[in-house]
Amino acid sequence: MPKQSFRRALLDWYERHKRPLPWRTSQDPYVIWLSEIILQQTRVEQGLPYFHRFLENYPTVKDLAQAPLDEVLKHWEGLGYYSRARHMHRAAQQVAGPGQGVFPDTAQGLAQLPGVGPYTSRAIASMAYGEAVAVLDGNVFRVLSRLEAVKAPINKPQNRALFQEMVEQRLDHQRPGDFNQAMMELGALVCTPRKPDCAHCPVQASCKAFREGFPEKYPVKEGKKSKKQRYLHYLFLKHKGKVAVEQRKQGIWNGLYQFPVVEAQAALSPKELEEQASREGLLPTPAALEHAPTVLPPHALTHQQLHLQVFEVNLAREAVFGPEKLEWVPVARLKELAFPRPLRRWLDQKQLILPFPK
Ligand code: SF4
Repeated sequence: MPKQSFRRALLDWYERHKRPLPWRTSQDPYVIWLSEIILQQTRVEQGLPYFHRFLENYPTVKDLAQAPLDEVLKHWEGLGYYSRARHMHRAAQQVAGPGQGVFPDTAQGLAQLPGVGPYTSRAIASMAYGEAVAVLDGNVFRVLSRLEAVKAPINKPQNRALFQEMVEQRLDHQRPGDFNQAMMELGALVCTPRKPDCAHCPVQASCKAFREGFPEKYPVKEGKKSKKQRYLHYLFLKHKGKVAVEQRKQGIWNGLYQFPVVEAQAALSPKELEEQASREGLLPTPAALEHAPTVLPPHALTHQQLHLQVFEVNLAREAVFGPEKLEWVPVARLKELAFPRPLRRWLDQKQLILPFPK
């Protein structure tokens, strides 16, 4: 997707789906600054009442600057990270005093205020003044790392420049404020840390992680002991109204049923899977996989992350192959068997069988 189309798709989506947050209708730097300070390390739902409270009590930056610090801290009560409130108060005094009530109108100037770092200064400058500067926050890091399937860890300071460059290249210079908010909104509503809603993502066409099939692999973080990644390729073998299943004898899903499975160190292509499954006696040759696999949502366990895919195979001939552990059961019987939750969900979606047996 060319950058121009990316911007259009993102901004169109933003116009239709953005949450109606009060600071989004304002271009007043005071209002935007207030919202940005309150929302640092705070969820929108939690910060919203504080935003209203501050604006009600201190309608202008001069009102805030003249208020006693104790009173400001009292209004901040419950929001945590109290240094934010102290910095905010000092910044208000700086703007109201030497600045005569006028906020600096560039990211560089704003960054001189207490409590205003690179992210906040760029956010305010782009939203209030239309300065063409792009922001990086946790949401933007995640979206970018997935769009470009970035293997470089996001928590290494030396990689910051790489992400900054990526977002600058995409920035809409006509609408930088909306662009920045749209990227963050996409991360908050669609490209979420877990279970990103790729099916409804406006920029799916340009997303490398989506094409790889496992967007949750990104962003890569270093330092944390990473979970073991397991790639399980299930074969849904169909033959004259029957399906091959096996009962697990060990592991996390001991005793449950599953379809014949090929495990690998990474996601296999259909060709690789065919070869490996044939070697393991799980597929009679030749047996073409029907179509692209269904990628199930990753299944997170304490020490491992399971990446699951289901490949459907229609076997024309009588099945006289496979290890003894495989059992051929009529489709109608599948509802009586207990499957691991991800497979049960998939079966339900296929409307083959009814929900979990009680
Ligand atoms: S397609 Fe999925 S992973 Fe890629 S940006 Fe959209 S929501 Fe995120």
